[in-house]
Amino acid sequence: MWRFIRGDFLEILVTGGAGFIGSHLCHSLLEDGHVVYCMDNLLTGKKENVRDLESHPRFQFILADVTKPFNVQVETIVHLASPASPADYLKLAVETMLANSLGTYHALELARNARARFILASTSEVYGDPLVNPQSEEYHGNVNPVGPRSCYDESKRFAEALTYTYNQKHGVNTTILRIFNTYGPRMRKEDGRVTPNFINQALAGKPLTIYGDGTQTRSFCYIDDMVEAIKRVIYKSELNGYVINLGSDHEITVLELAQLIKKLVGSDSQLVFSELPKDDPMQRRPDITLARKVLGWEPRTPLEEGLKKLIEWFKEQTSADKER
Ligand code: UDP
Repeated sequence: MWRFIRGDFLEILVTGGAGFIGSHLCHSLLEDGHVVYCMDNLLTGKKENVRDLESHPRFQFILADVTKPFNVQVETIVHLASPASPADYLKLAVETMLANSLGTYHALELARNARARFILASTSEVYGDPLVNPQSEEYHGNVNPVGPRSCYDESKRFAEALTYTYNQKHGVNTTILRIFNTYGPRMRKEDGRVTPNFINQALAGKPLTIYGDGTQTRSFCYIDDMVEAIKRVIYKSELNGYVINLGSDHEITVLELAQLIKKLVGSDSQLVFSELPKDDPMQRRPDITLARKVLGWEPRTPLEEGLKKLIEWFKEQTSADKER
């Protein structure tokens, strides 16, 4: 049964609420009539992402770091705070590990004390460089604990283990979401992930930088679909103890993505190939059978359509930057 009924509202804390996914979630939850506390230390999040919400009567921005204890009286906590782009977490390795370990601990302690529901944003990275494709929630992963990606992969795995432990030991109502590659407006130009990189390179007429030979695969989910899925989880409190993959199951190679972006931008940029970073997963596609079943959810935005929206958004950003 859906917990949220029209006219009813929830008080929700979104950690990492000024980030890419967090800010879209805050906007959408406010539109649905809820009270939203957005907490961020602005390490990789941006104040601009929630600037238009500042005067909203049901919105409050809290400038704070999840690695220090915090106390906000809410009934639902969505813990998104962490750098998430490989380029970011390589630079911010210790901060990433602390956000996912200490940060998750503080968020869980708050959930326990406030008797709030706790929703953890985990990641497809817990599967590492997977040996099975697609990845279902039962797969335990293939993760290198001592490599460039381990600060993220292992700290998210720790966050999952801690969440599970609070569920078992302290009876906190928890749900773990394993979020796969997501793209859309408000990604930073310098984010370093493949979609912003290729689009901005193509728009500038620069070569598209393919790491490896481009045969590695990913499955890209448009932000509106991801937010819809997260909201369905928030509105369904019966998901206590669940671990759910969220993402698109439309799998393409990085080379196909480069060619598609070139076509959509109308660019004749070259493709340049360089070494594949260590531990870069060769294949990634979620099995979303469970999400379909328990959320009645389906990623709806075709990749071309979503990419066109992101291309337009980056074009607007570039012209706004020029005017400044
Ligand atoms: N990638 C690439 N060129 C870039 C950025 C990324 O070829 O300029 C590749 C990267 O090596 C990986 C895939 O694109 O195989 C997706 O990378 P991203 O950083 O977006 O996220 P990941 O899925 O690896 O976390």
